[in-house]
Amino acid sequence: MPYKDVILVLDRMIQTSEVRMAGWLQTHVVENFSWHAKLCSLRVELPGFAFIAGQFVRLAVETAEGRMQRAYSLVNAPDDPQLDFLLTPVADGKVSPRLHALQPGDTVWVSQPATGFFTLSEVPDGKVLWLIGTGTGIGPYLSMLATAEPWRRFQRVVLVHGVRHAEDLVYPERIRQWQQQYPQQFHYQPVVTRENVTGALAARLPQLIQQNQLQAAAGANFDRHSQVMLCGNPDMIKAVRTELEQFGLQKNLRRTPGQITVEQYWA
Ligand SMILES: Cc1cc2nc3c(=O)[nH]c(=O)nc-3n(C[C@H](O)[C@H](O)[C@H](O)COP(=O)(O)OP(=O)(O)OC[C@H]3O[C@@H](n4cnc5c(N)ncnc54)[C@H](O)[C@@H]3O)c2cc1C
Repeated sequence: MPYKDVILVLDRMIQTSEVRMAGWLQTHVVENFSWHAKLCSLRVELPGFAFIAGQFVRLAVETAEGRMQRAYSLVNAPDDPQLDFLLTPVADGKVSPRLHALQPGDTVWVSQPATGFFTLSEVPDGKVLWLIGTGTGIGPYLSMLATAEPWRRFQRVVLVHGVRHAEDLVYPERIRQWQQQYPQQFHYQPVVTRENVTGALAARLPQLIQQNQLQAAAGANFDRHSQVMLCGNPDMIKAVRTELEQFGLQKNLRRTPGQITVEQYWA
């Protein structure tokens, strides 16, 4: 290829977002909002950061062993100038306790572009959209619900948040707004396993599904018109998937579309 054409091709590549964007953005924490001692929302300012609701980035911090990174889902709406991450410090974890300890002004690196296929564009159409998450696994759903897509595509949207304690039920104001905005279309179902909370179910998710309690509370069934997203704890995902398969639901893959789309936070 003549030299002039090589330059042209390189120039075009640099103009494409894939080449221009790949890498790390150095930024700083603007807020570390504490829900309680073991759960926070870490906010960093990055106006114009492009992503699809449901995607994740890697957050990195400098340590004595070098820069260390882990994946975290974006909780904010795609057009929000602040990126928001819901995170828990894992006992003996290498990165999460350091992120959890960050204070406004501290440096953090954000990978770009955002990545992942746990997005509504990967979910086939259906009547009922079930968004089931445990712990910090509610995060990607909060971002999705802040977009028009779930409300436009599904007749009913059910957000199920499984936690141990009432204090883990995060972002109540935002959820209340959707309850007010979509009273017929939206159902929020907290599930709290270690204490009794008004309005919450109080057993493990697979058991609640097996005994039809989750469906009764949500006013919706699991059938071929359902699309179910599962996010968070791998044991929950495995056990709930087994229950859903009893209703004929199958894992959703690009080559074989189904009804169960998953994002597992650890192995
Ligand atoms: C796509 C994706 C998105 C993620 N999004 C989030 C998020 O939004 N918020 C968030 O807090 N975490 C999220 N995680 C988990 C996160 O990437 C880290 O694994 C977690 O913060 C632990 O990192 P660490 O370095 O402290 O622990 P490590 O030193 O890497 O590992 C400690 C051990 O803890 C286990 N572990 C990881 N996460 C948890 C957990 N939450 N509870 C119990 N055990 C755990 C791992 O299996 C590992 O064996 C996500 C993971 C993936 C793959």
